[in-house]
Amino acid sequence: MADNVGNADSRPDLDLDEAFGDDRPTIDEQEMADAAKGCGQAAIGIPMGHPAGVPMTGGHPGGHPGGHPAGTQRHGGARSMGFRPGGGEAAQAYEARTGIKAPRIIAWEITRSCNLSCAHCRAAAEFGAYEGELSLDEIKSNIDDITTITNPIIILTGGEPLMRPDIWEIIDYAHEKGAMPVIGTNATLITDEIAAKMAEHKIPRISVSVDFPNAEGHDAFRGQPGCFDKTIEGIKIAKRHGVGVQINMTVTTLNYQMVEEVHDLAESLGVDAFHIFMLVPTGRGEDLLDKELPPEEYEKVLEWAYERQKTSPLHFKPTDAPHYYRIIRQKAKAEGKKVTREEYGLDAMTRGCLGGITFCFISHVGDIQPCGYFDMQLGNVKEQPFSQIWTESKVFNELRDYSLLKGKCGVCEYKAVCGGCRARALSVTGDYLAEEPYCVYIPKSMRGECE
Ligand code: SF4
Ligand code: SF4
Repeated sequence: MADNVGNADSRPDLDLDEAFGDDRPTIDEQEMADAAKGCGQAAIGIPMGHPAGVPMTGGHPGGHPGGHPAGTQRHGGARSMGFRPGGGEAAQAYEARTGIKAPRIIAWEITRSCNLSCAHCRAAAEFGAYEGELSLDEIKSNIDDITTITNPIIILTGGEPLMRPDIWEIIDYAHEKGAMPVIGTNATLITDEIAAKMAEHKIPRISVSVDFPNAEGHDAFRGQPGCFDKTIEGIKIAKRHGVGVQINMTVTTLNYQMVEEVHDLAESLGVDAFHIFMLVPTGRGEDLLDKELPPEEYEKVLEWAYERQKTSPLHFKPTDAPHYYRIIRQKAKAEGKKVTREEYGLDAMTRGCLGGITFCFISHVGDIQPCGYFDMQLGNVKEQPFSQIWTESKVFNELRDYSLLKGKCGVCEYKAVCGGCRARALSVTGDYLAEEPYCVYIPKSMRGECE
């Protein structure tokens, strides 16, 4: 979802599982138990075993604010719209046939054109048309193919997706085929007319990047004076028209001490969700390599997020920070709690990195990647159907097999719930299965503490 960068990020950044009431796990109970106690030797293999559409026993929708003060929610409210991404008949049939989970969320960079040029943009987008972008017909035929195997949420991203004049036709077609389109936007182009169209075309939510609590920092980061004010105005207009809004903040050394302030700004704007993204230095973000938080500070931000979630009225969580799912379990253990769905909502059910597991990215020219930050093309939809690439790609299949992880991730008791950021491993080491370079944790087995 490339809008923590740019406007429509390429990572699973929208709070969509909860927004759509999807309570199906991406990890199974055995893996959760392994993460809670063991040394991870059993936490391997392809995480199957929970056919789409079959909730786990005893479950109720994630996001129940169990045990939290009235009016607050630990992991957001379940605003179920009765849509289960990747839970329809096609997905169930696909999973039964192949033993592979169907994608639940697809981020689709429908254009790389953008009216801004943000410092950290994955797309490294510029104003103006790009060569080779998928045509409307190509997009439609890909939606046809995708919906033969799943009914995903499709995050229309960019660049700035509102730069694409046929976006409304794409949205209508996705709905018609049983998918759920949402938009990642920088919000600077949102007028009353655009917001009314979003509502009319049944866009349930947009995600918008706000990286600083003030114009000075945000405009400098976004490369355009006046951008902050326009973004805030766009958010207000969208809300006025009943379109849900999620604010995304990309955390770097430039702003990590302002996370609380941006959270409070999000709260004051009455948005639905606030997600912090840990910078993944690829695309234009490579220029920000030296702005990536050192692992120790990174850990502190995630620990702060754990505590802040307890009282935040927003659906609030870190994204692209897989080891947050390790931290949840460490903290819960220290508090004498179990990481159950009742207490932790969907955070108990999902894992850190979903790239290639239930999420992927399609670029403006049709290249498929596990996420927008994973700088490797696994196929192109102009040459091969999406469904075939999802099923047959060696890289996808390796990402689904946690036993292939290397280094400390390979022996970590949390590998099934965390897995490390594969894009960061690829970017730093050239090997997407290498250990996550930004994790301070030393697995138990490396400390000689395994039973
Ligand atoms: S060592 Fe790897 S799997 Fe373990 S918590 Fe760190 S990033 Fe996650
Ligand atoms: S590889 Fe990293 S950036 Fe991509 S989905 Fe996984 S955690 Fe997010």
